Amino acid sequence: MFETLVKPESISLLRDLIERSRRIVITCHISPDGDAMGSSLGLYRVLRNMGKLPRVVTPDTPPKYLTFLPGAQDIVAFSRFDYFAKKLFAEADLIFCLDYNEPKRIDLVAEWMMKSPAPKVMIDHHINPDPFPALTISHPEISSTSALACRVLHELELSDLIDREAAECFYTGMMTDTGNFSYNSNDPVLYEIIADLLRRGIDKDELYKKVYFVDTINSIRLNAYALSDKMEFFPEHHAALITLTREELNRHHYQKGDTEGLVNKPLTCPDVVYSIFLREETDYIKVSMRSKGSFKVNTICANHFNGGGHENAAGGEYFGTMQECIDEFKRIMPLYDCQLPE
Ligand code: 5GP
Ligand code: MN
Repeated sequence: MFETLVKPESISLLRDLIERSRRIVITCHISPDGDAMGSSLGLYRVLRNMGKLPRVVTPDTPPKYLTFLPGAQDIVAFSRFDYFAKKLFAEADLIFCLDYNEPKRIDLVAEWMMKSPAPKVMIDHHINPDPFPALTISHPEISSTSALACRVLHELELSDLIDREAAECFYTGMMTDTGNFSYNSNDPVLYEIIADLLRRGIDKDELYKKVYFVDTINSIRLNAYALSDKMEFFPEHHAALITLTREELNRHHYQKGDTEGLVNKPLTCPDVVYSIFLREETDYIKVSMRSKGSFKVNTICANHFNGGGHENAAGGEYFGTMQECIDEFKRIMPLYDCQLPE
């Protein structure tokens, strides 16, 4: 239906791998976002509709705002059910790696996935895929793994198995990885996929509300505090830096997901080209970066913060105190030339 994207030999190998398999484990990255969860649960649903025995294993528990996704209640979080997850890997016939490009991104799960004799299939849109899988379908030019998964299913001629529930999952991933179709979203095929998912019964307006209208009074106050009291602007570098310590998070009764989207806010100012958000976790500082145009934040995350991601949305970790992390950013800002767009 859509123009062909994936190499025909990859599609026929994938068809064989699926046909031969019954017990299929689907994995996605730690701190799963809408695309990690959407692509995994969409594929989970399709494989179930085929009569397979799939399971989604996540490194940690998914954020509450995504638990409305069909199938989310069946997810096996390794952080809670490691014994069961290890058994699933040992007995798997096939393992999917969705929305990540290297084993490190699935944290402690990596050891068990790599140990499993089952062939691995990566479907992903991050650059530089690690060559561990038997089959790699990597398309960094596609805005979400969910959109890529839809195209793969069409090319496998399995799209009839995308029911409303699967379509809701895939749409959610496409929506969240493009900021509700506000960036990386000029590919006309994206809208052909959306038209197809709408015909399968999704209510896109309702999905938008389910994902984005989830603030609590505490989270609104936390985000307001972060922007009013904890945002520093560096005009000479066109950069904004927001920091939240454990104490500040605790004071605002922080729940996972409460600062989702906060790092994007400074980009709404034309004077800001890139934005940094630092959140203190128990043993490291979580780094989130976003940018506009050609300024690449994934290289900064890869070079200095054990991380990576996309050119305009990346993340990493800093092992040290919040102040040390802030000082590190102040040190490296002058090393990356950042110009306002024409
Ligand atoms: P976020 O800032 O929402 O946590 O992450 C934005 C994007 O950056 C993610 O979709 C992912 O591609 C990438 N990312 C975030 N954290 C890490 C990390 O620790 N390592 C790598 N390699 N990528 C990350
Ligand atoms: Mn993604």
